[in-house]
Amino acid sequence: MTAVKVEDCKKCERLVKFRTKIALEKKLCHQDEEYWGKPVPSFGAQEAPLLICGLAPAAHGGNRTGRMFTGDRSGDFLYEALYRHGYANRPDSKNSGDGLILKEVYITAVVRCAPPDNKPLPEERDACMQFLRRELLEMKNLKTILALGSFAYDALWKLRNDPPFTNDPAAEKTSPSAKPKFRHGLEVALGNEINMVCSYHPSQRNVFTKLLTKEMFDDILLRCRSMSSREESAKIGAVQKSDP
Ligand code: SF4
Repeated sequence: MTAVKVEDCKKCERLVKFRTKIALEKKLCHQDEEYWGKPVPSFGAQEAPLLICGLAPAAHGGNRTGRMFTGDRSGDFLYEALYRHGYANRPDSKNSGDGLILKEVYITAVVRCAPPDNKPLPEERDACMQFLRRELLEMKNLKTILALGSFAYDALWKLRNDPPFTNDPAAEKTSPSAKPKFRHGLEVALGNEINMVCSYHPSQRNVFTKLLTKEMFDDILLRCRSMSSREESAKIGAVQKSDP
């Protein structure tokens, strides 16, 4: 059976209705634009060692532009940081035709359709994980995953006993490990020398309230860069840096 292309997926009735409604109604300041209004594909270099995973596209951000983290405040914060750290050729991301090129990083989200109030239902998350699973398997050089927020962390933790994090899913399932509590800066060894780093989500609210600052995010990206080298990943090995 041929795998469904993410852009063609209509599995979640509630989200299909929502993304289409938003695309027709539009925000006043974007009335002249054509909204994407479909599931948003991942963006960047799939052969990269670093994967950044968020929650879902924003109704007037990715759902408008058709590119992950593009067209909203979270994206402004993220792409500016990626540019500072040499992962992007420009400091902003306006639309899919702006010439932005990412280097050594691939950007995705757990859920590919914009959800009402940025809150997907558990069954919508579970349905959409098929795309994350598939992409993880396709990322042959993956070393580090940056989970933006607890939603992404929880979803990735659920996949820890599956490839590419293990070569023997049956054996892993018989030895469950305790889940560390989400916190900014948490590092988790997922397996097969692939590590996860957690950050607060760069949402407008988190940035405005300074729960997440540029300096904090710079530190996270430096750690991602360091962990993405083969030597560093090996050093972390099975060590799980969790809450004290
Ligand atoms: S959220 Fe995911 S599974 Fe649901 S319709 Fe969108 S692309 Fe399909």
